[in-house]
Amino acid sequence: MPPTCANSRFKVLPRPSILVMNAGSSSIKTALFDRALSEVLRLEATGIGTGGAVTIAGETQAVSLPDNATALNAIFDALAARGITVADLDATAHRVVHGGTDLTTAQRITPDVIDAVTRCVPLAPLHNPHHLAAIHAVTAIAPDLPQYASFDTAFHATIPPLAHRFALPDLPDLPGLRRYGFHGTSYAALVHALPDQSKTLPRRLLAMHLGNGVSLCAIHNGRSVATTMGYSPLGGLTMGTRAGEIDAGAVLRLVRERGLDAADDVLHRQSGLLGLSGLSSDMRTLEASATPEAHFAVDHFCYWIVRQAGSLIAAMGGIDAIAFTGGIGENSKHVRDSVTAQLRWLGAFPTYIVPAQEELHIAREAKTLLGLRAAQEDHNVA
Ligand code: ADP
Repeated sequence: MPPTCANSRFKVLPRPSILVMNAGSSSIKTALFDRALSEVLRLEATGIGTGGAVTIAGETQAVSLPDNATALNAIFDALAARGITVADLDATAHRVVHGGTDLTTAQRITPDVIDAVTRCVPLAPLHNPHHLAAIHAVTAIAPDLPQYASFDTAFHATIPPLAHRFALPDLPDLPGLRRYGFHGTSYAALVHALPDQSKTLPRRLLAMHLGNGVSLCAIHNGRSVATTMGYSPLGGLTMGTRAGEIDAGAVLRLVRERGLDAADDVLHRQSGLLGLSGLSSDMRTLEASATPEAHFAVDHFCYWIVRQAGSLIAAMGGIDAIAFTGGIGENSKHVRDSVTAQLRWLGAFPTYIVPAQEELHIAREAKTLLGLRAAQEDHNVA
């Protein structure tokens, strides 16, 4: 007979357990984990607001998805069609891009946490509103299902003021103008996974998350001390379509002469590998292309990784290892070889390739908090 009390339910139910969600402007990506943290299934709702489709385990079906709430319902319907209901879940766990300076560890979502994520909307206007919409949509569908959040910024809470402060005056009417850093769940997952390959975590580790978004992180004794992204995920390196580091004077001119919206579009969606190559934001396409512009874009990508790597290595006082992760970091031998060859002046150091496991890390954090909660409930019952 299945146990009914909440505490024992957590301990014995071998069914799918934690649904990890990454809600963006036009898509909601989910991954379902069982209690052993093995991935069971991936589901994705795409084209939200412009059409719509649901993909489950690689099979895509067109569905009308005018908004986030409809998309979330479609995901739960697709799960139900596979025999997985809300009752089979212990929790949902959301990737939240910005937790600001208040949310520096994973959290159970409460009204206070929702308020704190809402206060960060001006810091991440392209991301946090979509996370909040997904959280509210899950609450509407399953009001009693616990929800958790992991923050992309949290891993960088250890960056010291010298590294995170801009040389700006105090601007009390514009709170929060400082560097934060992103890709934190990816770096935290890497710190967790790397000792499987390297025996112990290298003391001064330069981690490189190279995907459509790109950043480097200086990890000293397992903690972030510097990273290339700053105030927003637009900063730092040449990315798929984002410009990365650009002189504020150039940004001011773009805004002055093109207007805010056009400047925003140039910097976020027309720049990076796409802007340099005039061909594609996709590294595979560029590596397969023979045009000089495609070559230049790939060289630019690698050169600026190396330039900024120098800055982060200085912040750690040296380097003991490099770890590559993300679609490009894991798969592009050309980029890895180019970067490590250009850093050869540093001497010999090991390099590792670590599969990006952001969803797993988010599920792990939620499971830890669920376990603490179950232990607390056990304690209260005892
Ligand atoms: P996101 O940041 O959106 O999660 P990914 O981490 O999946 O993206 O990275 C996408 C990038 O990885 C694309 O530029 C893609 O071309 C690149 N990539 C994937 N596989 C390869 C490969 N075999 N060789 C070179 N680049 C690759």
